[in-house]
Amino acid sequence: MAHEKVIWGIPHSGDRIGDLHVHSKWEKGLVKTDGKTPPWLRVEQALDKVHDFLALLDHDNIGPSIEAHEYAYVHGYNKDIEVLLGCAEISCVEESERGRRRDGHILAYGITDNIPFNLPASEVVRAIHRMRGYAVAAHPLCRYAHGVGEKTFLEIATSEDPEINWDGTEGYNGIVRDWKLPLWLYEFKNPNSKMIKLYDRKKDDSQYRFGILTGGSDDHNGDVGRVLTLIPEGMTVFDAFRERARTAIVFTGGRGDYSWASIKVQKEAGKLLVAARSLTGSLQVLLN
Ligand SMILES: [Zn+2]
Ligand SMILES: [Zn+2]
Repeated sequence: MAHEKVIWGIPHSGDRIGDLHVHSKWEKGLVKTDGKTPPWLRVEQALDKVHDFLALLDHDNIGPSIEAHEYAYVHGYNKDIEVLLGCAEISCVEESERGRRRDGHILAYGITDNIPFNLPASEVVRAIHRMRGYAVAAHPLCRYAHGVGEKTFLEIATSEDPEINWDGTEGYNGIVRDWKLPLWLYEFKNPNSKMIKLYDRKKDDSQYRFGILTGGSDDHNGDVGRVLTLIPEGMTVFDAFRERARTAIVFTGGRGDYSWASIKVQKEAGKLLVAARSLTGSLQVLLN
């Protein structure tokens, strides 16, 4: 069954859209993930809300993404939605600018085995690439969400080691917010806004290997699809990483749309879409 895509009330066809950062509830032996919705239910939700592709990235374990992929296949949903296989949000450990140990998160897509957590960020990226997977910096500039931080993010982007670079940069993460900021400061201080600006400034400089720009809801509770990534028609997500496709971020609103806080996010999203429009002509339809 084909699902009609409606974004901001506008029917949309052509480019593919999906959520590249979703968590689930999964348990095996001593391993327990921190989402509230099981993998099979994530697939069911995604059929209506994310349209073309879904990536379950639970912390340090690819098990849920395999289970979701199998569920889609067994029920014939794989024709409607690409459920990415071998995905996890890997925890790494970095020294901060002040010499303290701190955690960072790296999104891995298409890996074939779990990666030990608590390696340095660059070693996690290397391990992902050795499995022919794709490495994306999660909420890179957001400390409270455990981004790797600007220093490590840029070190990996500019590394001369051929195994170390980003295949993608998460420019908009759905749980990164800072409600306390006044609106006029929000644009400059919010880690999503700062990341998008940095990406936009350096993306054409060949010294910086940021990969594609992605967005994901990072949802743990049941609000899948609030932030989506748009990739060109006819490409799988892995094609988009490999070919460094032009992408865009789509913000669809979601829960709590009427709070003051979310008005700020909506406003920011409006700017994001304007910023993202330069990356792909297709987004114009979203702005009409
Ligand atoms: Zn994270
Ligand atoms: Zn996450």
